Amino acid sequence: MLIYAAFLGGVGLIVGSFLGLVSLRLPRGGDVVFGRSRCGGCGRTLKPWRMIPVLSWVLSRGRCSDCGSVIPARYPLIELGSGLIGVWAGFHSADFTTALMTGVLGWNLLIIALVDAEHFWLPDQLTLPLFVGGLLAAVLLYPGGPSAAFPSALVPPLIGAVVGFGGLWLLAFLYRRVRGREGLGGGDPFLMGAGGAWVGWTGLPSVLLWASAAGLSVVLAMLIVRRQVSATDRLPFGVFLAVGVWLTWLYGPLGLSLA
Ligand SMILES: [Zn+2]
Repeated sequence: MLIYAAFLGGVGLIVGSFLGLVSLRLPRGGDVVFGRSRCGGCGRTLKPWRMIPVLSWVLSRGRCSDCGSVIPARYPLIELGSGLIGVWAGFHSADFTTALMTGVLGWNLLIIALVDAEHFWLPDQLTLPLFVGGLLAAVLLYPGGPSAAFPSALVPPLIGAVVGFGGLWLLAFLYRRVRGREGLGGGDPFLMGAGGAWVGWTGLPSVLLWASAAGLSVVLAMLIVRRQVSATDRLPFGVFLAVGVWLTWLYGPLGLSLA
């Protein structure tokens, strides 16, 4: 719905500037939640108007107003991406709770994909909230209402989490046995488990299909640009899993319409 899309788009922009900070501070082991935003060049805290997402970056032409050093475009891009996730979530949902939880899922997946793409790392600090969010969504969106949700609403997400974690752990184990090297990162089973809490075990094959399709597209793009891909090229599989969870949550398990 338009009104949800407008509201969550605005919330998404603000969430995005927070995610930009998290993506910078978490890999450095810094304080994620507290501490004002600072210029990377002169270290001065940003003026309040500089906290306005996207617009402040555009108006200052991407430079610090104190020292003139360049503020990377990744910040407004993350804010924009986060805003678009909010708009997408709003348009896709018929009621506000669904829209809000869809936005929460998208923003959590965005920061997970971002950190994995830049650092090949899926920290528990990001996958654990995703798991808890899946349980929360199951309770809040329970057809009989949250008061009737316990304990039956928690069964599908818990099964989804166990099957997702176990399935990907087994896949990584088999790959290691057959190929003699690591094919997946240590955090991938945790991401698949947390994703399973959202989409349930019936959604997990679709997550893998979407993830493979996304991964294959990237490999094809690399082939076109660089004309070669070696077997040891690392790909951030967590990014593709995040795409898979997002699309499966929005559009349901693939192949269901054929049944
Ligand atoms: Zn500065």
